[in-house]
Amino acid sequence: MSQSTYEKLTEALKKNELLNSCASLLGWDEHTYMPLAGTEHRANQMALLAGMSHEQLTSPQIGELLSEVEGTDLCKDAATPSAVNIREARRKYDRATKLPRKLVEEMSRVTSLAQQAWIAARKEKNFSQFCPWLEQVIALKREEAEAVGYGDGVPYDALLDKYEPGAKTADIDAVFSPLRDELSRLVAAIAESNIKPDSSIITRNYPKEAQIKFSTLAASSIGFDFESGRLDETAHPFCSGIGPGDCRLTTRYDEHHFPGAFFGTLHEAGHGIYDQGLNKEAFGTAMGQSVSLGIHESQSRLWENFVGRSRPFWNHFYKPAQTAFPEALKNVSLDEFYGAINTVQPSFIRVEADEVTYNLHVMLRFELEQKMIAGELEAADIPTAWNELFTSSFGITPPNDSLGCIQDIHWSMGLLGYFPTYALGNMYAAQLFEQAKQDVGDLDAMFSRGEFEPLKVWLNKQVHLRGMQYWSSQLIEVITGEPLSHLPLVKHLKTKFSELYQL
Ligand code: ZN
Repeated sequence: MSQSTYEKLTEALKKNELLNSCASLLGWDEHTYMPLAGTEHRANQMALLAGMSHEQLTSPQIGELLSEVEGTDLCKDAATPSAVNIREARRKYDRATKLPRKLVEEMSRVTSLAQQAWIAARKEKNFSQFCPWLEQVIALKREEAEAVGYGDGVPYDALLDKYEPGAKTADIDAVFSPLRDELSRLVAAIAESNIKPDSSIITRNYPKEAQIKFSTLAASSIGFDFESGRLDETAHPFCSGIGPGDCRLTTRYDEHHFPGAFFGTLHEAGHGIYDQGLNKEAFGTAMGQSVSLGIHESQSRLWENFVGRSRPFWNHFYKPAQTAFPEALKNVSLDEFYGAINTVQPSFIRVEADEVTYNLHVMLRFELEQKMIAGELEAADIPTAWNELFTSSFGITPPNDSLGCIQDIHWSMGLLGYFPTYALGNMYAAQLFEQAKQDVGDLDAMFSRGEFEPLKVWLNKQVHLRGMQYWSSQLIEVITGEPLSHLPLVKHLKTKFSELYQL
């Protein structure tokens, strides 16, 4: 009995994921090739699909199938695929059934239009154009938090749980606080160092065509499979795993800023390698899905920073870089280049921030978002709140909104509760990288020879192929034997930057 019921359940889940992947493809298109005039029609398409998906997922049939398989032998051992798939299906079903269809459709419609308003506002450096849309988004997210519920926690927990299953605002605070202190001390020590890398090296002329070729080469060298993926241009880079055999990366090019597109591409390729490493047979079920955004981000940051910004990586890639960009790099030594791409300096844009200040950008957003959802901060007051907090964290004040509170696309997409996963990702990346060094062998020597496959294979096995077998907090313990901690990240940053800045 229960075997065929279980099959019916997984069939229904797969169908739902198939529908969601159609929406992902439309979303990718919206940000890459769709003509601007198609905005409203696309919003309607997306709202229709969101509504259909929600209806499918919350159908009484799924509820019945779930009740039938729960409590059977299929769930006896919590770590088996069937138990994992049932557990996560229940979680998804419960969350979805708490959200009224009207709210889901309205969220889809509003965020689709809000994204276009955000693009225009960002271009004009003017928050006020985006403000009425953000106001609606915040109101809808508050409604969502109330509908989902948060036990004896805070409303923000309900939003966080969507991206980081099981995580609580208080737990994140507990690791962010000591991390913030350590980072502030490190930033201050670096500011006082006499070593000043020549960062003008990376703002020289880097022709776009050469950038595309070089970053594509690097992404494919670390293991992103271009036979099952592609790379396009967009205003705000992202990676969209459409489904088995189809993973889309996007990036943006600035001919006078080398790191933006290069490390952006490595970052998105890291996400892509995770998506491409998932178990294809398990598509549509939890065993074929990524654990959480925090773990997803650990994969992108690991390839971007722990690999891509390391000296061994450039031992291998610096010569090809000089060949690709002769005008900019002909007379630049590897040491000078390495210093330039690792310059630590407070700056306005999160996605272009260095490894040390990056997490401070995340913490600022985490703080503001909690206030928005708690009803302590309204849309109209965000620019002022942002600038005040930014000035106290970084010692500099954004000269306009595009360098301030409207630099990120997330809020326009309704992605509140998402930002903290970036800093979680950095901490998980440090923990995983430490473990990989023990398990895989001399990674530095391998990178210097251009060998990235052994690390990729280790990540495939330890992280990607496990799907959602464990939630992030458990997964990190299973792999490293230690719970989530800020210490490996702090150790990595101190070691790397003490050497670079002779602290
Ligand atoms: Zn990312």
